Amino acid sequence: MFRIHAKLLIPGHGQPVPDGVVVLDGDRIHYAGAQAAAPVADEAEESVRVPVVMPGMWDCHTHFAGLRDGVSTERLVLTGAEVAIARSVRDAEVALRAGFTSVRELGGYGIYLARAIDEGTLPGPSIYAAGRLIGPTGGHSDAHSLPYAWVADPRRTQGMLQIADGVDECLRAVRLQLRLGARVIKVCTSGGVISEVDHPGHQQFSTDELRAIVEEAARAERVVAAHCHGRAGILAALEAGCRTIEHGTEIDADIAAAMRESGAILVPTRTVYEGFLARKDMLPPAAVRKLEEVADRHRAALVTAHEAGVRIAAGTDLGVCASDSPLAWGRHGAEFAHLVAAGLDPLAAIEAGTATAPLTLGPQAPRSGRLAAGYDADVLALSANPLDDIGVLARPEAITHVWKGGALVKTPAAQDLPELAKG
Ligand SMILES: [Zn+2]
Repeated sequence: MFRIHAKLLIPGHGQPVPDGVVVLDGDRIHYAGAQAAAPVADEAEESVRVPVVMPGMWDCHTHFAGLRDGVSTERLVLTGAEVAIARSVRDAEVALRAGFTSVRELGGYGIYLARAIDEGTLPGPSIYAAGRLIGPTGGHSDAHSLPYAWVADPRRTQGMLQIADGVDECLRAVRLQLRLGARVIKVCTSGGVISEVDHPGHQQFSTDELRAIVEEAARAERVVAAHCHGRAGILAALEAGCRTIEHGTEIDADIAAAMRESGAILVPTRTVYEGFLARKDMLPPAAVRKLEEVADRHRAALVTAHEAGVRIAAGTDLGVCASDSPLAWGRHGAEFAHLVAAGLDPLAAIEAGTATAPLTLGPQAPRSGRLAAGYDADVLALSANPLDDIGVLARPEAITHVWKGGALVKTPAAQDLPELAKG
């Protein structure tokens, strides 16, 4: 057993506890709560005293894409998987040191990294991965300026994009991801920003195709995450039974009410909008035009969803291997301040990135994201109180200790990873 004493314990769900204690027993939490009610320590038990303790954080929308600078679907296809995965090994460690003990990965190479991390070969967060991002020909998972045969060839063994047309191919696309070990399925139900010719306002996939995807995933106890911006795409995703709405740019009062009714979760990814607005040079010209069309609308949608009582989980859409970019792995904590700016109080924002986050995996949700008996021993110690300044969560140096599965994987004495060269 190992004991963490804290002036303040933030449980993930529920009210903070002054003078709290967390007792770890192997890879599980044995007790978390008030010092006064804690079980008596045995003699051999080691302990540490810290200012603040909270659950390890989750980022519910990431990509192990291994891009270094520019971002487009063409770059995703043209960056070799071997190089992208090698870069992603570093990104995984950076995320863990930033206090992110779990990530949901919605298209990318995380499905392979997860295996190496779970077996203890590499340091990194627990990865709940989707495998490839599934979309129709000409859609958000297509690279429109490349020869179609390259992008659509079903024999292609590498890549993070999957094209599927018609019910049969949609079923096969889901089964291919399940074969790789996907814990969630990711589809595009509208156009996107980083794909060239499609429009974020247009629905992608027919209702029949989407239903087939959701039903096939459900037979394997997986939920479906829907990338969508425009109203039509969001409504199609909800109607088909997608569990999470990713981005949700055109959410209005009617859609928010429907989401609340159905229990769908919004993963707003405000970080990627703000990141690209600050670094438009990372995008091709067509993508900059689309970004400018959607960015303000999205800010309003997030406020509308929150005010309507839609359940929100924290996710960023980060996926760049760099040190100096706002879109770099390790910057996941930025999302909390965006959620507070949209009206969530700091405790609710933390809940979005802890206790709520595993719910985005439906039946695949692990017992994670809370300081409570029986939950995964994924725990952070902080040098400052994020309820006073939510920006604390975006500063890896303020996260002094990280326990993952009960193992101490970051200590205050840990050296930072060296900065990466630019570009
Ligand atoms: Zn994404």
